[in-house]
Amino acid sequence: MPIKCSTKCGRNAVLKRPKTGDTLCKECFFWAFEEEVHQTITAANLFNSGDYVAIAASGGKDSTVLAYIMKLLNDRYNYGLKLALLSVDEGITGYRDDSLETVKRNEQQYGIPLKILSYEELYGWTMDRIVEQAGRKNNCTFCGVFRRQALDRGASLLKVDKIVTGHNADDIAETVLMNILRGDIARLQRCTAIVTDSEGSIPRSKPFKYTYEKEIVMYAYFKKLDYFSTECIYSPNAYRGHARAFLKDLEKIRATAIIDVIHSGECLSVRDGVKLPTRSVCTRCGHISSQPVCKACVLLEGLNKGKPRLGIGKSSKVRERLGDNISDSSGGDFKASLSPSIAEF
Ligand code: SF4
Ligand code: ZN
Repeated sequence: MPIKCSTKCGRNAVLKRPKTGDTLCKECFFWAFEEEVHQTITAANLFNSGDYVAIAASGGKDSTVLAYIMKLLNDRYNYGLKLALLSVDEGITGYRDDSLETVKRNEQQYGIPLKILSYEELYGWTMDRIVEQAGRKNNCTFCGVFRRQALDRGASLLKVDKIVTGHNADDIAETVLMNILRGDIARLQRCTAIVTDSEGSIPRSKPFKYTYEKEIVMYAYFKKLDYFSTECIYSPNAYRGHARAFLKDLEKIRATAIIDVIHSGECLSVRDGVKLPTRSVCTRCGHISSQPVCKACVLLEGLNKGKPRLGIGKSSKVRERLGDNISDSSGGDFKASLSPSIAEF
């Protein structure tokens, strides 16, 4: 006998919610999923009426569902937002070119205007060429650092008030674990924040902070949303892969593992006296940086000088390789303290 939806709506259940274990029909699942995102948005006061909001769109499941649901909730609850899709073209043949075709279709399907910015136009390099020069080992470091800045630049060009990204609960829990494993206290402290806004940058928020990846996939599947699901052709970030596998193992034993890890991250506080990086602006490009010259500019310098490992290793090695004579545009000595990690959030 078919199982009935646990909300007692009278319909047959078609799924079991990973987050709660409830057996639900499609309609009740859609409603629960959408209402939880609405709750997250309103509880954290993510938007003000009249805000112009850029949705970081890659064509993948998270950002496609985010675009769909931002439009839906904006209409249902009269948020009063003006929406735009903002995509970054990293220049990865056979991957990003195809996924951008999906975003272009989403532009038509959801009636949200799209802006695409490319690494080629911003930095003069595509990821294909970076991999050619730097090899496959550190490609995600270049890509992550450049993407973060590219989104900021695109948002400034569009003159938006806010950016939303499709980071989901699984992503955030993985990042908490990674930052603990790496001892990266500065990132650990800010990676669970639903909004990141340092002075001078456009606030970024994560409406899917409490949304399970599995439920995003289910939502996209049952809504028949048009998204791109192929993995990047350049090997994905290996370190994150280990954190992901570990979290999935934990989740099998304890269904609430993802939310529990996020909760632990939120409750951690850094004791007085721990040195944290201060934020200022890059003397070369003017973007937010905790160093005199931002990581994107250092990586770019390495590429342009034919020394692609510059900025990947430790600061002492960087200075050694450059003969200790790199100066920032203000003429001062450039002493970057660089970590080999990808810029997570
Ligand atoms: Fe960029 Fe790495 Fe992601 Fe590919 S897997 S899009 S190279 S960050
Ligand atoms: Zn810079």
